[in-house]
Amino acid sequence: MVAKNVDPVITQKWARIRGILRSEVGDAAYRSWLKPLTLLSAKNGTVIVSVPTQFMRDWVVSHYADRLRELWVGQGSDIHSVDVVVQSVSQVTVVRQVVPNQPSSGQVQVSDLTKGPGQLSICSPLDPRLRFDNFVVGPSNELAYAAARRVADLEAARFNPLFLYGGVGLGKTHLMHAIAMHVRESFPEKKVGYLSAEKFMYHFVRALRMKDTVSFKEQLRSLDLLMIDDLQFITGKEATQEEFFHTFNDLVDNNRQVVISADKSPSDLYGMEERLRSRLGWGLVADISATSFDLRYQIVELKARKMKVEIPPKVIEFLSHRITSNIRELEGALNRVVAHATLVGRDISVESCHEVLSDLLRANTKKLTIEEIQKRVAQHFEIRLTDMCSARRARVVARPRQVAMYLSKQLTTRSLPEIGRKFGGRDHTTVMHAVKKVEELRSNDVRFDEDVDMLRRLLES
Ligand code: ADP
Ligand code: MG
Repeated sequence: MVAKNVDPVITQKWARIRGILRSEVGDAAYRSWLKPLTLLSAKNGTVIVSVPTQFMRDWVVSHYADRLRELWVGQGSDIHSVDVVVQSVSQVTVVRQVVPNQPSSGQVQVSDLTKGPGQLSICSPLDPRLRFDNFVVGPSNELAYAAARRVADLEAARFNPLFLYGGVGLGKTHLMHAIAMHVRESFPEKKVGYLSAEKFMYHFVRALRMKDTVSFKEQLRSLDLLMIDDLQFITGKEATQEEFFHTFNDLVDNNRQVVISADKSPSDLYGMEERLRSRLGWGLVADISATSFDLRYQIVELKARKMKVEIPPKVIEFLSHRITSNIRELEGALNRVVAHATLVGRDISVESCHEVLSDLLRANTKKLTIEEIQKRVAQHFEIRLTDMCSARRARVVARPRQVAMYLSKQLTTRSLPEIGRKFGGRDHTTVMHAVKKVEELRSNDVRFDEDVDMLRRLLES
């Protein structure tokens, strides 16, 4: 959407940007978060877009503000910042001269590396919400967290560089921003710079082209704390690596702190020069590994509290069990569930999660096999695995066998005849009977119900 008084050229650019965003984020995310954006004005280098709710504003600012800004800059306009404000749709359409006076886009400029008005700083803005106090600590990230805290306390003995590595969406960027926020608050005189390796490369290449590498280097070397995120992006780029190496050595030699993140440990960064790889491992190398159920549970709980929504424990448990890939995806799932409930005015339940998250749930589903189910169930009821397929009809083996059939139906996409075949060549009607029997028992016997539920969770986790 566009407010009435916006220049047609700008309107066209906006349409192009929306097209790009749509192809980048996919239809679902686009519909939920970006389609509702209304362009209010583009003046004095600043674009102002509105969203209908505070919740959406927070979401858009934290997830898309940087990209929006980049896209505007890429459109060759003189736009260099994007503000996101809250305004209901009805307010927007009657607006003539839009001068919303809601403050800020929620972004904080980290350092004063801007060369002048209208020009972008080579460092990226920080998200003020990525802080230590909302970083949930568990076994998978405690070393990285402790090291980050230590580094943020610039005075103490520290590791230089601090190298954080781990898979996507596990909290590397969060920790880096938290370090920067902490330093900003505790040591306001210190200069902090945070930028992605991609940005580093981009600015370096541009400086080369403008024959202005000296000031590029000076800017970086004036920092007390330099953070480079996603270093894997400069693998294979020799000139950039060389430059990075020199800047890095310079800073460390001058006792400035450097923090680096990547998706792999230094020794696994193929395409990175050997001497750089070994140099990167001189300080402390801390990995963030896959999350545990408990950590995911606590994170969902915390985010729900921050969003001020009441989420039933069953739903938190469901999300933490089922969205295991990474925390970004888990957060996305929570946001979708909450947004959906708000929009349609319904309570949040496990059923509504199934409905709203079907695509995510499918992607996160491990391919469970009937054999695994049989094994787990046999272990649980302490019967022999061979009895899953045997002809014995004694209750002690028949009941567990029925449970295994039931779970096979629930947790795999196998048909009844296929399941029957895997259980010693039984008929599909036997499987159907088992499913009915277990359902009946579950509704009549609480202990049995809990047992089956626990088995299901074990199998799904
Ligand atoms: P990475 O940089 O490793 O890909 P991010 O730092 O961007 O991952 O984390 C993805 C999302 O998950 C962010 O919104 C972040 O705030 C959140 N997150 C990650 N780890 C934690 C944690 N331990 N506690 C709370 N939120 C977390
Ligand atoms: Mg990151």
